[in-house]
Amino acid sequence: MAIVPLPEQPKINENKSQNMGCAQHGTGCTVVFQSNAGENVDNRELCFQKQSFLDRWMWFVGRTLFERMHMESCRMLIRDTEKGKAVFADADIRKGGFICEFTGPTYTMDEYKKLHDPSNNHFLQIDDDRFMGPSHNADDLINHSCDPNCGLVYRDGIVKLIAIREIVKGEELSFDYSTTMDEDCWEMECLCGGHNCRKVVRDFKYLPPDVQKKYIALGVVMPFIVKKITVS
Ligand SMILES: [Zn+2]
Repeated sequence: MAIVPLPEQPKINENKSQNMGCAQHGTGCTVVFQSNAGENVDNRELCFQKQSFLDRWMWFVGRTLFERMHMESCRMLIRDTEKGKAVFADADIRKGGFICEFTGPTYTMDEYKKLHDPSNNHFLQIDDDRFMGPSHNADDLINHSCDPNCGLVYRDGIVKLIAIREIVKGEELSFDYSTTMDEDCWEMECLCGGHNCRKVVRDFKYLPPDVQKKYIALGVVMPFIVKKITVS
C-alpha cells in the first residue's frame, strides 16, 4: 500500500526574535505563525480557512494566546479631558496593530432603544438587530473622531480595535462611530475638531461615498453594513 504523506499542518510558534508581524496584527505582533517548513504564514488565512475541527481548535488557542499577550503589551491610559474621559496610547502603535477587544453583553434593537443614554451612548451596533452593551472597561471610553487613528474589525463574534495608521505614544485613540451605525434612531453632535469634521455623527449610509469607500477598503466597517452599501 502506498504511503500518502499527510498534508502539512500549520503550527503556532512564539518567536520574538523572528518577528515579521502577522497580517492581522501588524509587525508589533509577538507571535509568528509558521508552517512546519519554518516559513511565516499569514495567520488571517489560518484563522479563516478553519478546514477541520483541529484547525479551529488550534486557531482558538492561538488567538487567545495572541490577545492575552497583546492586551498585556498594548498599554492605554484613560485621562479626563474637556470632552470627558478619553483613552490615549501609552506606547507607539504600528499601522494594523491590535489595540484591544471590545466586549459587553448583547442586546436587541428594542432593548438598546430603552437602555441607551443618548447623551452618553456606550452601545456598539454589531448587526441589524444586535448591539454590544457597555463593558465598563477602557473600550467604552474610546471617543469618536471624523479623522480617526483606529478602526473596528468584526469577525466571528469578536470586535477588535486596530490602528489604521501609525500612532505615537500620547495620542488619543479614536474611531469613527459611523462605521458601526445603521440604526436610524441616534445621532451625536461631533466636537472632534478634525479638519474634515462632519459636525454630526450619523449612520454609515449618510457618509460621503469617498469616505465610505476609504473605510470599507480599510476593513473597518461592520460586515452587516458593508453588505448593504454599493460603492462605485
Ligand atoms: Zn468630527
